Amino acid sequence: MKKCGFNFDTSYTALPEYFYSASTPETAPAPNIIIVNSQLAESLGLTLSNLADKELAELFSGNQLTEGSNPFSQAYAGHQFGHFTILGDGRAHLLGEHITPEGNRVDIQFKGSGRTPYSRRGDGKAVLGPMLREYIISEALHHLGIPTTRSLAVATTGESVRRETVQTGAILTRVASSHIRVGTFEFAAYRQEDDAVQALMEYTIQRHYPELAESKNKAVALLKKVMEAQADLITHWMRVGFIHGVMNTDNMALSGEAIDFGPCAFMDAYNPRTVFSSIDETGRYAYTNQPGIAQWNIARFAETLLPLIDEDTDKAIKIAEETINQFANIYRPKWQAMMNSKLGLQGTDPGDDKLISDLLEWMHKNRADYTNTFCDLSRMEKPTGQLYSQSSFEQWYLRWQDRLKKNEEPLDAAISLMQTVNPTVIPRNHRVEEALEAANRNDLAPLQQLLEVLAEPYKNDPLIAPYQAPPDESKRVYKTFCGT
Ligand code: AMP
Ligand code: MG
Repeated sequence: MKKCGFNFDTSYTALPEYFYSASTPETAPAPNIIIVNSQLAESLGLTLSNLADKELAELFSGNQLTEGSNPFSQAYAGHQFGHFTILGDGRAHLLGEHITPEGNRVDIQFKGSGRTPYSRRGDGKAVLGPMLREYIISEALHHLGIPTTRSLAVATTGESVRRETVQTGAILTRVASSHIRVGTFEFAAYRQEDDAVQALMEYTIQRHYPELAESKNKAVALLKKVMEAQADLITHWMRVGFIHGVMNTDNMALSGEAIDFGPCAFMDAYNPRTVFSSIDETGRYAYTNQPGIAQWNIARFAETLLPLIDEDTDKAIKIAEETINQFANIYRPKWQAMMNSKLGLQGTDPGDDKLISDLLEWMHKNRADYTNTFCDLSRMEKPTGQLYSQSSFEQWYLRWQDRLKKNEEPLDAAISLMQTVNPTVIPRNHRVEEALEAANRNDLAPLQQLLEVLAEPYKNDPLIAPYQAPPDESKRVYKTFCGT
């Protein structure tokens, strides 16, 4: 195998051995490279451009392990839809921690690379559609300016994988600042050895929040950091209308990156109760519930830290509760500042809350498109068209214009601000599905075109118009599937 710049220096395996298991990817019978993220590869200091497609296929199917890689799978637990379960990487292999030219440490992980000691009844495989879906969504979030794991490549394995139908086996190569999840701490706590949580906490602080190393109470300090990072992440999701779909505690990373994109989707028409996931029957993970669920997950995280918060359990619980109860006070101002920026409002005004909620209510009532409404407002001219000619909108618009006059800077500053936070284009579900269907027929052009548009989601270019339109009724996607 030619050298291609991987610079592994794996630290995770210094944790107690119950945190992981050595495990190697299964052999792919006839691998084929589908897509490589050359821009990401370059930023990681990898030199993939001198590899032929065949070599790329061998590399990203796991048939040829790169130098210095000692693959392993991670143990974790999690609350899935509220219920505790022991899990672990059932179909993922972590190749190693790569050190980038800037000195950043990132996990390089295969997803769909075969059975591991944590596979339970699963086959360890993944299929092309869902792996490309994760590729599209994670790259879209990244370009929208949202912390997220990223996607380096997708290769097919040449295997047929049985799901509801027979599908093409595929492997995604994921890049993450780590794969430490709330569920990793739950796994540590489940072992009922205080040392396990302590070791994981020290490791997490060293890897993600080294500034906490000298804190008086590291557990409380880490809890606060994680709350802050999650509040930031969810604020971003709410800004762009993103619905993760499966916010189980095993799908929440302590780094604050979005992770594990299953049946996630972006909302078209604004409705706070929007749910896409076929497995979310009660709407637990609906758009509007995401901040509350983040807090719920953080409470599960806090529970694992109790013995480290204080040796007196009652006292530890009290401190944890007081800390977690601050979540709304941390999230709310972030959300408000974000919504203010979406409307170009500088400073604060007592009427801002109502101005925002009235617009959202109007959008909900009129099934206005979330992305396009804010995009239409982000222009100097008043938006036109049937929807905007209603008197209810006119009245709101005049109030908004009056409020903009209270800004310290002139109107064009407000418009510029709006254009940096209101995307012109998002990965609309019907477009994503179209690209995946074509890829399944070996036509990669729609996927490439979609990715190109999503790489510049704040650009105003007439060429992106086909990607801005909401779906026709016939193309509307109501349900997304995990498709594991
Ligand atoms: P996810 O829905 O991807 O967050 O996965 C939830 C859990 O199920 C994780 O522990 C996965 O590793 C496991 N899992 C999902 N699909 C498979 C599969 N095909 N084979 C084995 N384990 C799987
Ligand atoms: Mg998961």
